[in-house]
Amino acid sequence: MDNDKVIIVGGSAAGFYTAAKVAEGGKRVRVLESRAELEPASRTLIVTSHFRNQLGAAANESVLNEIRRFELFTDGRTAQIALSKPDLIIERAKLIPALARQAQRAGAEISFKTRFLGLSPNANGIHVQVESSGRNEELDAESVVGADGAASRVARSAGWAPVETVPLVQAIVRLPKDCPVDTTRVWFVPDDTPYFYWLIPESAERAALGVIGEDGRDTTHCLARFLEKKGMEPLEWQGARIPVYKRWVRVKRRLGKGNVYLVGDAAAQVKVSTVGGIVTGFRGAQAVADSILQAGPSRELLALRRELSTHWLLRRTMHHFQQEHYSRLVDLLNAATRETLSEVTRDESTRLLWNVLRHQPQLVLLGLRGLLLGWNSERR
Ligand SMILES: Cc1cc2nc3c(=O)[nH]c(=O)nc-3n(C[C@H](O)[C@H](O)[C@H](O)COP(=O)(O)OP(=O)(O)OC[C@H]3O[C@@H](n4cnc5c(N)ncnc54)[C@H](O)[C@@H]3O)c2cc1C
Repeated sequence: MDNDKVIIVGGSAAGFYTAAKVAEGGKRVRVLESRAELEPASRTLIVTSHFRNQLGAAANESVLNEIRRFELFTDGRTAQIALSKPDLIIERAKLIPALARQAQRAGAEISFKTRFLGLSPNANGIHVQVESSGRNEELDAESVVGADGAASRVARSAGWAPVETVPLVQAIVRLPKDCPVDTTRVWFVPDDTPYFYWLIPESAERAALGVIGEDGRDTTHCLARFLEKKGMEPLEWQGARIPVYKRWVRVKRRLGKGNVYLVGDAAAQVKVSTVGGIVTGFRGAQAVADSILQAGPSRELLALRRELSTHWLLRRTMHHFQQEHYSRLVDLLNAATRETLSEVTRDESTRLLWNVLRHQPQLVLLGLRGLLLGWNSERR
C-alpha cells in the first residue's frame, strides 16, 4: 500500500508541470505515460510572455522565436498590431523533455509504456489499474491526476462527462519572402472556418500555417486549398483534436478516501477564442498542485475560470460572424484599439476586452450582433 503517493496519468505538458510542482512540495509522485519513451510529436506553438513567468529559465530550452507584431487580413483589408511584450514560438518536442527533467530533478518517478486502464476506491485511497509493458498491474495512491489529454480515460473512469473537441491542423512551410520573421499573420475566412488561419514563423526559413475547423476532413481540405492559393508547399503535417471550453470543468472529485483531479486538455483548460492550451494548462496544473499540497484555496483556479469564460464569450460573439462583420472588425481596429491590444496579452482577456471596448465602443454593437446571430442559429 502506497497511499502517500500521487499518481499522474499523462507525461506531457500539463502532467510533467504538475509532477514538478507536487514533488517540489515534498509528495512522492509517479507519472504514468503510455508511450514507450520521451519522444513527443513535433508541434510549433505560439504562447504569450506568461510562459516565461511560469517556467523561468527552463522556458529558454523550447523557445525558437519571438513575435513582435500581428497582421490581420480579411477580404482585402488589413490591420497591424504591435506587441509590447513579445509572444513566443516554442517547439513542443523540446518543451516536454525539459519539463520531464524538471519533474525528475524534483524527485518524480516516470514510468513509460504504462497505460492507465481504470480506478476504484479502496480502504485507504484509490486503486489504479494499469497495463505496464504488456502486464496488468495494480497500484495504490492517495490522489490521481488525469493529465491524459482531451480523450481523458481518467475523467471517464471517475465519472466526468466527455469534453467536446475540434480538429486543429497545421503544415510546416517555408517562410514566405514577404513575411518578416517577427510577425504572425492571421486570416479570417468565414466561408472556410468560424475560427481563422494563422502563419507563425519559427525561424527565418520555416513557419507553421494552421487552421482550426469543425470537421476533421473538411479542415484538412481547407488547409490544403489555402496552401495552394498562397503558393506554399507543406513540408510536414501536425494535428490533433483540441477541447472546446464551453463551461467550467470541476477539477476535483472525491473518490472514497482519495481525490481525483484533472489538468490541461483533460479539463478543457484551453482558451477557446484562439485554442491555446499551454499557458492555461500550466495554470490549471499549478492550482491542482496547490490543492494537493493543501496550500489553501487556490486563487489561480478562480482566475483561470474567469479567463476561460471570457474567451468563451469572445468565441460565442465571433463564431457566427459573416464576412461583413470581419471586415467591420478589421476596420474598427483603429490606432487606439491597436495600442490597447498590443499592451495586454491574450492571457489577460478580461482586461483586454474592457480596454478594447472603452477605446472603440462600436465594437460592443458588433459583438452584440455576433451574439444575436449565434442565438438565432442555435434556435433554428
Ligand atoms: C497542431 C497543434 C497546434 C497547437 N498550437 C497551440 C498553440 O499555438 N498554443 C497553445 O497554447 N496551444 C496549442 N495547441 C494546444 C496544446 O498543444 C495543448 O493544449 C497541450 O499540449 C495539452 O497538453 P496536455 O498535457 O494537457 O495533453 P496532451 O499533450 O494531449 O498529453 C496527454 C498525455 O497523456 C498520455 N496518455 C493518454 N492516455 C493515456 C493513458 N490511458 N495512460 C497513460 N498515458 C496516457 C498521452 O500519451 C500524452 O502524452 C496546439 C495543439 C495542436 C494539436
